[in-house]
Amino acid sequence: MAAIIDGKVISLAIKDELKKKVEELKEKGIQIHLAVIQVGENPASAVYVRNKKKGCEYIGIGSLSYELSEETKQEELLALIQELNEREDVNGILVQLPLPSHIDEDTVIQAIDPKKDVDGFHPQSVGALCISQPGFVSCTPAGVIQLLKRSGIEIEGKECVVLGRSNIVGKPMSILLLRENATVTIAHSRTKNLKEVTGRADILIAAVGRPKMITRDYVKEGAVVIDVGINRDENNKLCGDVDFDDVAPICSAITPVPGGVGPMTVAMLLYNCVESIGLRA
Ligand code: NDP
Repeated sequence: MAAIIDGKVISLAIKDELKKKVEELKEKGIQIHLAVIQVGENPASAVYVRNKKKGCEYIGIGSLSYELSEETKQEELLALIQELNEREDVNGILVQLPLPSHIDEDTVIQAIDPKKDVDGFHPQSVGALCISQPGFVSCTPAGVIQLLKRSGIEIEGKECVVLGRSNIVGKPMSILLLRENATVTIAHSRTKNLKEVTGRADILIAAVGRPKMITRDYVKEGAVVIDVGINRDENNKLCGDVDFDDVAPICSAITPVPGGVGPMTVAMLLYNCVESIGLRA
């Protein structure tokens, strides 16, 4: 049976380290504030936003909350972002996605000052990541790297397959693995012989958004399997992209859903908020 990589324990360790740093910053008179903007009433977004605010509270940073109505116009949202960009006391700005369909997400992401882009979605942050310059790294993939490192799993030289090529998970994930000297393959919906490709992975990262798609016939025996997916199964129960019960007996380590990658995303957002002090200087 595989070792279970416990994202709750690892994320708590990171939050405790951050809490200490925040205390030290406070002693120097530096107080960090994250502005969280939510547009509309998507129930999943409301849960994510609540967890992020709870995380801020835990490590001792302030959170400013903006809950805007579904009908908010794009110009109104952009005006709020502009105001927050200019505020000295705001270190990070987070706009919870998805946004209502009348608002263009790319325009909104690009309106955020890259120095406050704690989600790491701004093109400048993504570009900096690609050429290993300082900048914010997208939280979920950064969390996966921490899960691997803090579980003592070596990345260098390993055959890593990232299943999914989204801008917020798959692509930055592959760049981060490359930065750790892995040999990286990115697979997606047009990949041919998918099982053959994923079956080569020493480390398989699943970010497809398809409930329990990854069964043991996609996985090499002894591989490490990281499940980024957050889905609902046929009984409306939370599940990942990996069929945990089928895969766990043949791999060496695996993340559960919930309790794997999910808590790491919040921890890395908080990490980015603390990091924003250094990027500003
Ligand atoms: P997207 O829908 O943006 O991307 C999914 C990717 O999977 C695409 O690249 C798509 O390929 C590929 N794909 C879809 N179906 C298949 C298939 N049958 N075979 C091969 N590839 C396929 O999703 P996200 O990256 O935003 O999210 C992925 C999952 O991770 C979701 O379950 C989401 O909820 C979860 N998530 C979890 C987070 C966390 O904190 N744990 C944070 C963010 C996301 P193509 O590009 O060709 O269409």
